[in-house]
Amino acid sequence: MSTVVVLLGPPGSGKGTQAKRLVDVLGTPHVSSGDLFRHHLSRETELGLMAKSYMEQGGLVPDDVTVKMVIERISRPDCEEGVVLDGFPRTLTQAEALDGALEKRGQEVTVVPLIEVNDDEVLRRLTARRTCEDCGAVYNLLFSPPQEKGVCDVCGGSLYQREDDNPETVRHRLYTYYKETSPLIGYYFAKGVLVEVDGEQSVDEVHKELRETIKAAREQV
Ligand code: AMP
Repeated sequence: MSTVVVLLGPPGSGKGTQAKRLVDVLGTPHVSSGDLFRHHLSRETELGLMAKSYMEQGGLVPDDVTVKMVIERISRPDCEEGVVLDGFPRTLTQAEALDGALEKRGQEVTVVPLIEVNDDEVLRRLTARRTCEDCGAVYNLLFSPPQEKGVCDVCGGSLYQREDDNPETVRHRLYTYYKETSPLIGYYFAKGVLVEVDGEQSVDEVHKELRETIKAAREQV
């Protein structure tokens, strides 16, 4: 039985942090559409350069290219047992494309935890976020700062602020979330797979709740 987890929630709700921790428990890959785009961007591929302007403005990259990129990734053999999706789907079109692709492989979305965080907290968190340019570890200057300023605790790499984590772009990302992505709440609720999780608890508490949520959903299948 495969386990497909779709983490839903506004930017800054902790989807990436939680996905990384879930992967250690579930043993399935973590697929983040944002990371895939950033990877393309750093290699200056055609896809990366096309996605750049959308990402910089906090808008969405068009569905057709996004769907193609993510479906190609989750169709690889390492996702046969399941996957933790973070940042995808972000539109109804993407959600329908995901369902279609999973169905072809005899899979389906197992559970969709909705990580809830209020808007002020999103703004506060994202503008204080720093990421390691080498290993991708994520810090927050407010509640999980690195031991040494600008240096990654894990690998010693340099920390940087994502270009789209400035206040103006964060507001636009939030607007995009409400406009394009929030309809997915109803979509997954209607399918009976949505579970609300309080994203304002500590990272450990959210992780614990997510594990329980996923365990319960797997037992139902
Ligand atoms: P994230 O790291 O998930 O916050 O994504 C960073 C940026 O990548 C977003 O603001 C979008 O511009 C783009 N992006 C990531 N995932 C998607 C998606 N599923 N659909 C469209 N654009 C996306």
